[in-house]
Amino acid sequence: MSEPITNIPIPAILEINKGAIFQIEKILQKHGFQRVAVLFDDFTYEHYQPTVKTSTSQLKLEMIKMPSDLDIQALIAQAFDMEQYDVIVAIGGGSLIDYGKYIAYSRRVPFISFPTSASNDGFASSNCSLIVNNKKTTVPAKVPYGIIVDLDIIQQAPAKFILAGIGDLMSNITALYDWSFEEKNQSVTVNHFAAMLSKKAVNSFIRTPMEDIQQPIFIKELVSSLTMGGIATVISGNSSPISGSEHLISHALDKIAEVPAMHGIQVGIATYIMSNVQNHRAERMHKVFTRTGFFDYVKKAGLQKREFQQAVEYAPQIKPNRYTYLHEQKYRQQALEFIDSDPILQELLQ
Ligand SMILES: [Zn+2]
Repeated sequence: MSEPITNIPIPAILEINKGAIFQIEKILQKHGFQRVAVLFDDFTYEHYQPTVKTSTSQLKLEMIKMPSDLDIQALIAQAFDMEQYDVIVAIGGGSLIDYGKYIAYSRRVPFISFPTSASNDGFASSNCSLIVNNKKTTVPAKVPYGIIVDLDIIQQAPAKFILAGIGDLMSNITALYDWSFEEKNQSVTVNHFAAMLSKKAVNSFIRTPMEDIQQPIFIKELVSSLTMGGIATVISGNSSPISGSEHLISHALDKIAEVPAMHGIQVGIATYIMSNVQNHRAERMHKVFTRTGFFDYVKKAGLQKREFQQAVEYAPQIKPNRYTYLHEQKYRQQALEFIDSDPILQELLQ
């Protein structure tokens, strides 16, 4: 039987602009949505709910402030407690976006992602990270129907969120290298269209001036590139185009670290480590992380060297069915030695 012609769901709405928050009603109307639930977290309910309220006059939006720290069971209970809506919009940080994505997925309604920070690619991806049995776990959902990003809002978020987004985006490079490695060593097939998209996303970002990471041009480039990476995962049907050994280290840290750091920060450091182990574009990594201030931030973030080493050892067990560099003892050993000897990491890690 021949393969079916590729038919992938991609977002029908993509608005990345200054002042996008004022356009919500217009966008929803254009797409025929009438019964709308808008979810907020504590912060966004306080700061942006009044703006959404005053800038919508024709549609009746149900504004819902979500509790924080919901685990998957509480979230499902909440999802089935809600009325039926045409669409669910989530305005908030990473966790709130994941709540919205999962609620919309469970209720089979379209989801519009409105991230207020660019700290990872979750706002554009089909997975979400939820608490299952007290641990952060990647749970499948659906790619958003729409992505709306207000550059003014992203710009107001603390710089560390942008830095985390940079870390998560740079990981496309090591992830793609792992994917080819996997193809050579195991019976997986790289989806070349997905790989191209992920590669172009990060390469285009790398060429953007990096003097001021809070400039709208920089943020737009970062957000668009993270979005393209998210779409690459929809094309390949797995997270391989943007998630390789460096993400395994971060997922392992989520399980073992006393205080896990932001996803994109952990991923960024793991990317720096893995690019050196893979001996691929490590110099570029160093340049980007230095120029953007990523390394300077990590110096003060209190990441633990010992925990990174434990995470390297634990990494292959996170996804035993994959075959990244860290699935070979030889490269795990190299990673451990690099963490122990690299002069930059000695400054960055405690
Ligand atoms: Zn990530």
